Amino acid sequence: MNKESILVVEDEEKIARLLELELEYEGYSVTKVMDGLEAFEAYRTGKWDLVLLDVMLPSLSGIELLRRIRINDKQTPVLLLTAKGSVEDKVSGLDYGANDYITKPFQIEEVLARIRAALRVKIIKEVEQNTIDTDVLTFADLKVNQKTREVLRGQYTIDLTPREFDLLVYLLINKRQVLNRDQILEAVWGYDFMGDTNVVDVYIRYVRKKIDLPNMPALIHTVRGVGYVLKEAK
Ligand code: CA
Repeated sequence: MNKESILVVEDEEKIARLLELELEYEGYSVTKVMDGLEAFEAYRTGKWDLVLLDVMLPSLSGIELLRRIRINDKQTPVLLLTAKGSVEDKVSGLDYGANDYITKPFQIEEVLARIRAALRVKIIKEVEQNTIDTDVLTFADLKVNQKTREVLRGQYTIDLTPREFDLLVYLLINKRQVLNRDQILEAVWGYDFMGDTNVVDVYIRYVRKKIDLPNMPALIHTVRGVGYVLKEAK
């Protein structure tokens, strides 16, 4: 099993050491950094499942560090360590996208529980993301949901027959690759299909008529003497 990696940013040596020991004992892989700028560098160059971030830090505050992290990264859970009574830090921390905060002095059990909770949420989100990604194929403004069999071109709903749908999905999976008639026939109609390859041309024409609406850039292109390709218009 892969160890989950945690970046611990804390400038108080004793607390940093305690967190490192406890987290490693729990089976996490821990990197500890004691300075704000160094922490940002470590964040940028590493791969982290979670960041545990003290607010009061030398060279760059935890809040500023969090702000920089959240410019491009909305996913990685960030837990803030704030001083007792610092309501301002908590509020701005949450405003800047912290997932949770822990007030110092803390009980280590509380820290561990918050970390487990944040990592659990992260995993659930990733699973949801993956499910969505594999069901929906997109290309340009074309969107095909393989589960609901819904097809959209821009804001227009496109109504396809089952065969047309399979053909479009095959083109989408192999987008930007030129496919010859035999390949398409095999993939969409199957090896045992007894007709001739003209059927591909006929169905391409049907799908094209429905997908490449007037005044929209064409997505299905004919490559003369070879076959067809789904790609952006030149
Ligand atoms: Ca501090």
